[in-house]
Amino acid sequence: MRIAVASGKGGTGKTTIATSLALSLAGGGSAPPPIFVDCDVEAPNAHIFLKPRLGDSQPVGIMIPVVDETRCTFCGKCAEVCAYHAIAVLGKKTLVFPQLCHGCGSCTSLCPENCISEIANPIGVIERGPAVQGIDFLRGVLNIGQPMAVPIIRELQRRIKPLPGQVVIMDAPPGTSCPVVATMRGADYLLLVTEPTPFGLHDLKLAVQVAAEIGLPAGVVVNRGDGPFPDLERFCASAGLPILMRIPFQRKTAAGIARGKNLVEVHPEYTAAFRELFQQIAEDNK
Ligand code: SF4
Ligand code: SF4
Repeated sequence: MRIAVASGKGGTGKTTIATSLALSLAGGGSAPPPIFVDCDVEAPNAHIFLKPRLGDSQPVGIMIPVVDETRCTFCGKCAEVCAYHAIAVLGKKTLVFPQLCHGCGSCTSLCPENCISEIANPIGVIERGPAVQGIDFLRGVLNIGQPMAVPIIRELQRRIKPLPGQVVIMDAPPGTSCPVVATMRGADYLLLVTEPTPFGLHDLKLAVQVAAEIGLPAGVVVNRGDGPFPDLERFCASAGLPILMRIPFQRKTAAGIARGKNLVEVHPEYTAAFRELFQQIAEDNK
């Protein structure tokens, strides 16, 4: 089973929940330790909690066009076909903007003069290594200033090859944009982490809309909640979203996380709760 852990906004404790789930399942002994995939490629930070030995690093790139202007007739067909405005014809110049190019190859295949070739444009790396408790850790790291996160997430997902019974946990980027959608598309189940505030609820609703469009079953973890928040309860009930866990705010938790400790390291009693949460997901999605 592949579980994506997401939240409509940053700062809800998504990575804390994702890594706590991974650690709890890794210590269960009934299945191979999980594969953990940090898909937050713009700002990966799950390694702080899971402490992988990242020995394997491989570049990821997309193919971008290069125009041979000695053969170009400046007809403009490449610019017309590019949905991302990544290629433009200005008089007797054909310009490529690598930062905008998605590497779709349309311009290359439609150029009537066959004068476009392609070169690899590096956008980041994928790193892998064993983490604590035998967790197989993978992450993508986008180059600074590079906007193209989705190809790295897709490449991460291509490299996930779980053993029978091995759970995959994908830590999604915050928000609801393309990188989050790409992460969700590779999942069987979506665990949404929210906090019981109007802002948390607002962003949860956006994330639920995306999950519904993809057709992904979902459940909710309410983090840093000290009591019921009726608006959140009502929304989850009306959307058919089970609230699978509630984690109250505790100063001890915040202090531990600030020192790079995981929730289940600070509160080992949550280990059983995370295993139960997983069992419930597995039962509900048989
Ligand atoms: S489609 Fe080909 S020939 Fe036409 S402007 Fe683009 S590169 Fe030049
Ligand atoms: S490869 Fe696709 S995105 Fe890039 S310039 Fe060509 S048409 Fe545009």
